[in-house]
Amino acid sequence: MFEIHCPYCDEKRSEIEFAYAGEAHIARETNADQLSDVEWAQFLFYRDNARGDHCERWWHQHGCNMFFNAVRNTVSDKFAVTYKMDQKRPSVKMIEAAKNGK
Ligand SMILES: [Zn+2]
Repeated sequence: MFEIHCPYCDEKRSEIEFAYAGEAHIARETNADQLSDVEWAQFLFYRDNARGDHCERWWHQHGCNMFFNAVRNTVSDKFAVTYKMDQKRPSVKMIEAAKNGK
């Protein structure tokens, strides 16, 4: 068991309070009515499935009930940083600094 930092509660809580909510920063299609079935299916179902640092959406389901974003390493399962929904994706430099505790 591990802990996840909720940026809204501003504290680390047990992983059992959280639920994974998919890849982060997926922009909704603005021209959905003009897409082919294949393009629409790719938007709905195809994700990066990255190896290494990955931006994800998480839900503090049994806490403050807020959604937030996180950068989690899919190999080590360690969270580098979590951030509120209205904040931009952290740069690689910021992620590396967070990993080193800076
Ligand atoms: Zn929270």
